[in-house]
Amino acid sequence: MFLEYAVDKHGSLVHVDAVPRGKVTGLFCPYCGGDLIARKGAILAHHFAHAGETCRPVSRDADIIRLPMYERFSLSLVGREWKALQHFHNKRKLPRNRRIFNQLYSHELVYYDRETKRHELTIKGKIPFGEATLADFAPVQDDLIMEKHTMLERRLKQDYANADEKHIYENDLRLYRAQLQRVHSAVLYFLKIDFNAGELYKIGVTTRTLDERITEIQHDLAEYYPQATITPMLTLNNRGAVESYFKFRYKADNSKVGTLTEYFKFTDADAIVSELQTLGDRTLSEFDQILLDET
Ligand SMILES: [Zn+2]
Repeated sequence: MFLEYAVDKHGSLVHVDAVPRGKVTGLFCPYCGGDLIARKGAILAHHFAHAGETCRPVSRDADIIRLPMYERFSLSLVGREWKALQHFHNKRKLPRNRRIFNQLYSHELVYYDRETKRHELTIKGKIPFGEATLADFAPVQDDLIMEKHTMLERRLKQDYANADEKHIYENDLRLYRAQLQRVHSAVLYFLKIDFNAGELYKIGVTTRTLDERITEIQHDLAEYYPQATITPMLTLNNRGAVESYFKFRYKADNSKVGTLTEYFKFTDADAIVSELQTLGDRTLSEFDQILLDET
């Protein structure tokens, strides 16, 4: 797994974004206490690597603590199911194989529409193709996030064989909650960037003020568009969890600026604003509130 958090000597979690790249002092692996290096390259997501050998808990599959539908949207379908779903999406043909057909049904990816008298993709079934709106996507993501949280909690309560395993499960749940706190506390922003030759749009998240973030963006853009004017179109509170899905849904409109990748060219930006407005701020549940208050 990618270690996004280290612990300091008081046992508090520290995110990789809070430290400069390279060897870190005073921060350790939450699982084994080993020394760490902050890896902050351009390709892989920023993370901590062990200075020595990677410990066994961190060598496990990244999925164990990954937030569901946060980076990947393929729903963890296995080969034949995924092929069948793609085939249905492209050709509207259901798999002849009864078992695979039943799988699509039991995963709630297709349903029978009594009005059109044919099978359709459910909202969940539309997500791997980026065809669910943000407002439809968010509750599906929330359910999966909570499901996984419940599983991690249950495992910690009853499923461990010894103190070492308990320690691993404690950390799994702790890191999962820390990631969730980070995305739920972020503001999602949508900006318009005017420059001589036209306009671009940018989506992103920040846990600082929007003004601070805009100053930074202005600085990033200076090399390419020194005259750029940045106008905030919309901000949504506590909506960090949907940023990746937005980028996935609109990847065809993505427009690189030099090495900067989070920019888009939209022919109908009003439609995007309206979709974001329909999503709206996140309504904080009691669970969210407790999570956000954690330090
Ligand atoms: Zn370790």
